Order: sequence, then C-alpha cells, then structure tokens
Amino acid sequence: MRLAAVAAWLAVSTTVAAPPVLAAPAGLTVRVEPAAPRQGDLTVVVVTGASGALEVTGSLGPGPLAFFPYGGGHAAVAGIDLEAKAGPTPWRVDVVDASGATRTVTGRLVVGSRQFPVQRLTLPKGQVDLDPETERRALAETARLRALYATLTPERLWRGRFVRPLGGESKGEGFGSRRIINGQPRMPHSGLDYAAERGTPVVAANRGRVALVGDFFFPGRFVALDHGLGLYTLYMHLDRVDVPEGALVERGTTLGAVGSTGRATGPHLHFAAQAGPARVDPDTLLGTRFSD
Ligand SMILES: [Zn+2]
Repeated sequence: MRLAAVAAWLAVSTTVAAPPVLAAPAGLTVRVEPAAPRQGDLTVVVVTGASGALEVTGSLGPGPLAFFPYGGGHAAVAGIDLEAKAGPTPWRVDVVDASGATRTVTGRLVVGSRQFPVQRLTLPKGQVDLDPETERRALAETARLRALYATLTPERLWRGRFVRPLGGESKGEGFGSRRIINGQPRMPHSGLDYAAERGTPVVAANRGRVALVGDFFFPGRFVALDHGLGLYTLYMHLDRVDVPEGALVERGTTLGAVGSTGRATGPHLHFAAQAGPARVDPDTLLGTRFSD
C-alpha cells in the first residue's frame, strides 16, 4: 500500500449498495485503502464527516470494525485473510450522531485473488506426523493464539509506520505459500521468513504490549505484540526472548534474537501479522502509512 495506492482511494459513492435508503448521507464519506485489496492485504477504512458522533461502528465481511480517531475523522484497520474468498465483500458503517440518529453507509469491496507459490518441504517425520499427545499440544497452542487474536484492545498503541523487525538485506519470503510437507498439503504459510544468523537482534515493528511470550511446538520461542485495535505482530523461532509478558515496548525495542526453535529448518525469523482473525501479509503492514 504505497503512495500510488493512496491516490487510488475511492469515495463511497461508487460502491454504495441498494436499497437507496442506505445511500451515503450528506457529508458522510467512507473510503477503503487500498480500494481494490487482494487476499492477505491489510485495509484501512476511513470515515469522514462523522465528527461529533457518539459512536461509529461497522463491519467488513464477517468481522467487526473497531474505529479510532484518525486525522480529524475515524478509521479502522481490517485484514483480508490470505484464504478469504475472492470477489465482492460487503461492508457497513453506522454513525450515531449527537441527537441519537443513526446514519448508515454500506458498500462492497471486491477482493482480488493472489497467486501464492507452492512450496515443497521435506522435514523429519517426527515434526510432521505428530503423536497424539503432541497433536493435542499443537491444537491447544493454536487455539490459544486464536483466542489472543480475538482479543480486541480498544486503544491504539502503535504510532506512525511499522518497521522491519530486523536489520540486513533479507526481504522476507514465503507469505501465503501453499505448503506440501513430505508430500502432504498443509496449512498455508502465514508469515514472512527472513534469513538471518542465529543471535541477530529482533526488534518490535511498532509500539505495543507484549501480549504473549511462549515456547510452542511449531513457533518455538516467540513473542506476540498487541498493537491495539486488533492488530498483532508475531516473532517466531527465537533463540531467546528479552522482554516479559505485559511490557509496553516501543518501535525498535529488542524483543529477542533469531534462532531455530520450534519447527524450523535453520535459523530465521518468522514474522507474522494479524488483523483480528485475518492473517495478513506483513509487507502490506510495513507499507501502510498511518498518520498520527
Ligand atoms: Zn515461517
């Protein structure tokens, strides 16, 4: 989502759906950036003309939108999950003004499909065909992460833009790869892998609260940062973790060091981003320009 995409922002009038009673009320504008998102993109829904509103709520696809004050108006971040269905996705914004009257705007976003690479991996059998106890453990750990992503901190903790979680030249790769491990199709890869030497410092992509420090079967040692309003970043396979759960960290704070804990073929950082339940491409998070 670079500047070109910002220029492509569309006014709501192009996407307002029937019935006409739901047409954009005078002065109320909703725009979604980018206007034509793809699977795995982070979107920002910006509402203007709702100043003085008692409440701004809404939804995009199946998920609620959590609005925050933004540039004199309101905005919400929403992810398009990497496995979201391509095609029209409805959104809705409800504004309750000071008199108690509700104004509603609806529209549709057309989610574009994205071709993800297919990645074939060979891993030790014990890391793929889990024994029942390990399988139970991995499922419980996945459920714990899902519960975390469903937790919405109503306050915006991040400031300005998100930055790379480590130095060096590695661009990160593999987001959305359809993985075939030992010949079996598995869950798609939901983060970016940065090649780096063991011990390379890993830093917070933005300000946030350390929501979870764990040592899980697949992620190994990891840190989950809660940036507020449903936005999370994750740093996995760490050799060590330097921050305690509950700490509020600034952008650039060292969280730990690159390692190969959990299911990893060698030292690297797996960096992931979640917008609520949606797994989004960390590169779209890094490319989103938020003003403060
Ligand atoms: Zn990975």
